[in-house]
Amino acid sequence: MKKIYFDHSATTSVDPQVVEAMLPFFHEKFGNPSSIHSFGRETKVALEEAREAVAEFVKARAADIYFTSGGTESDNLAIKGAAYELKNKGNHIITSKVEHHAVLHTCEALEQEGFEITLLNPDKYGVVHPEAVEKAIKSNTILISIMHANNEVGTINPIEKIGEIAQSKGILFHTDAVQTFGKLPLNLSKLPIDLMSVSGHKIYGPKGIGILYIRKGVKLAQLMHGGGHERNRRAGTENIPGIIGLAKAVELRKQNFKKENEHIKKLRDRLAERIDKEVPRAILNGHPEKRLAGHLNLSFQGIEGEALLLSLDLKGIAASSGSACTSGSIDPSHVLLAMGVKPELARSSIRFSLGKDNTEADVDYTLEILPEIVTRLRSMSAIE
Ligand SMILES: *Cc1c(COP(=O)(O)O)cnc(C)c1O
Repeated sequence: MKKIYFDHSATTSVDPQVVEAMLPFFHEKFGNPSSIHSFGRETKVALEEAREAVAEFVKARAADIYFTSGGTESDNLAIKGAAYELKNKGNHIITSKVEHHAVLHTCEALEQEGFEITLLNPDKYGVVHPEAVEKAIKSNTILISIMHANNEVGTINPIEKIGEIAQSKGILFHTDAVQTFGKLPLNLSKLPIDLMSVSGHKIYGPKGIGILYIRKGVKLAQLMHGGGHERNRRAGTENIPGIIGLAKAVELRKQNFKKENEHIKKLRDRLAERIDKEVPRAILNGHPEKRLAGHLNLSFQGIEGEALLLSLDLKGIAASSGSACTSGSIDPSHVLLAMGVKPELARSSIRFSLGKDNTEADVDYTLEILPEIVTRLRSMSAIE
């Protein structure tokens, strides 16, 4: 059976060139970069070269790039690190209802500890407006955390304006850029960003590796205690193969991301147009233009998204729903609900997220399958 992967927002396959770059670091070049002998020095050099390469890609100083275990850890380190460091200055944090759970649940945990969290509503397209951020600022605000682009609907936020507001008030600004790093140009020498989270496995790099960019001078409380790794910011022997793989993935995105974006957007638009013509009552979620090239989140009125996903999977097509399936009951996506999508429409949504290796044939095969499934599910469905 044909197998089609339309879930690149969840993860991507590791680029063969990335695997190749990583391999020597399991066997020949296995030294601990903290060791002073030649084995250690060899990996230390590779580690710092990788840091340089990543920094150059986003026009940051290499010294401001810190390797972590992924997007989730970077979000935790940025938010808890800032909160604990600044708790004597204030206890108020501003974020939004459309953030990834790595941000939302971290903020909820801080709320349990006595921090005050403001959760901003986005507009109907999922955009968090700078004006809303500005209005929420209080004298005790210590951190603003707003994602660059949303993982469920792909909507891109005006982080430059939000960062400028934060900067003008002397408040730290963190952005979760996991969905945009390697896909949109990011120039940290110009952007008013203090903290930025990145993950390897969303850009054809390995899982379990990420970055937190920490602007020079920003102090964070440590979450991991141990050795002096990553200049005392993040203890633990560095994941060298992961770091080398991430740097290689960055190099490949740097060379190719414009071409990849064009290719992906063309396919995504073809998928959107054909569904619009051939499947009635499919409603777009997210911003019609200001969104990532690969995202297509649609509500198929009258059916359960979960049932649609399972039917597509039986035909080899892997898409996803933003909703979390907990003990058999399906929670509608918190992102769609925050955007004002009605719960029954939120439950009928699925996300296609396309990637560089998808083809026109993938889109056309999907359209051979999808209209039939939707018609069948609607005929069986009790919901309107
Ligand atoms: C995937 C993702 C994360 C989590 O990154 P991991 O490396 O899987 O921990 C965080 N934020 C966003 C927006 C994501 O899409």
